Amino acid sequence: MPYTVLMPFPAPARTLLYALAALAPLASAQSAASSRVAWNRPVAPFNIVGPVYYVGAAGVASFLITTPHGHFLIDGGFSETAPLIERNIATLGFRLHDVKFLLNTHAHFDHAGGLAALHRATGAPLAVSAPDAAVISSGAASLPAVPVARILADGDSLTLGALTLTAHLTPGHTKGCTTWTLPVPSGGSVLHVLFFCSASVVAPLVHNAAYPSIADDYRRTFAAARLLPCDVFLAPHPFQFQMEEKLARRAPGAPNPFIDPAEFPRYLAQAQADFERELKAQSAARRR
Ligand SMILES: [Zn+2]
Repeated sequence: MPYTVLMPFPAPARTLLYALAALAPLASAQSAASSRVAWNRPVAPFNIVGPVYYVGAAGVASFLITTPHGHFLIDGGFSETAPLIERNIATLGFRLHDVKFLLNTHAHFDHAGGLAALHRATGAPLAVSAPDAAVISSGAASLPAVPVARILADGDSLTLGALTLTAHLTPGHTKGCTTWTLPVPSGGSVLHVLFFCSASVVAPLVHNAAYPSIADDYRRTFAAARLLPCDVFLAPHPFQFQMEEKLARRAPGAPNPFIDPAEFPRYLAQAQADFERELKAQSAARRR
């Protein structure tokens, strides 16, 4: 996400911010700096469901998926989030050297900035989609370059022990945006955990020379994402999946609030409505 939309505002406010940022770059740079600090506030790591743990910061997620044969780590936060993630993994009693795969939802600096440090700390190979690999392996401002060990295509899967993560390319938010699905055995049945890439609009949707197919990609992504099984919806920013609210509702003996099969379809419908409204506004502005 670029600086102008760092805060968890609802879509109309986000669109407003987007417009304001174009008019007032200085003010937005200041609020971006304070958002970045707020988003990097430490939070205690915790178990979400089964082998899935939250090891990120207050505003940028990182997920550890554990098996007796090693662990997956999805997303690295900002460059300065990496030490927090390392500490959170240790606090849970897991070892950095047991991380066997480093993964990424998308190559933005708030989710890929910490991967270089985490790669050094764990020695784990980084596996990402081809379009995002181009960004991550060459690096950018606030996104230190990381060598990419494996390029993932749509439908590729990675297995450790009894757990298999499958990569689904859901482009739009970035060209290589990757959503992950993970079936987790649970009391005789299976829970489908989904790590969504993102579908918020953070770049021009019309006449985007750097990404001409962006609007079509969003539409294809909305159609494809709707077909993915999801009992537990997770995403790169905690506010996207109401992490704080769910944590507050957790109680011994009560159902796990992170399990909610209705949440992802609802989230997608809202994201698609936001996208269509933004596309319409940008197309209209273009015609004026
Ligand atoms: Zn992003």
